[in-house]
Amino acid sequence: MAVDPVCGMDVEESEGAIKTEYQGKTYYFCSKACLLAFSKDPEKFLEKDPPDPLKEIS
Ligand SMILES: [Zn+2]
Repeated sequence: MAVDPVCGMDVEESEGAIKTEYQGKTYYFCSKACLLAFSKDPEKFLEKDPPDPLKEIS
């Protein structure tokens, strides 16, 4: 199970799933609306949760 980064919904990682790749990671979405919102401004949806990988390296 993946989490839609836009709305927080659980999304099944099936073959027909709506998904996109960003910075080498695959993200899944519940709808095309969420995918669209994400592709317009991915950083907006990603900055919340994940630890910043660049900070850990430097
Ligand atoms: Zn969604």
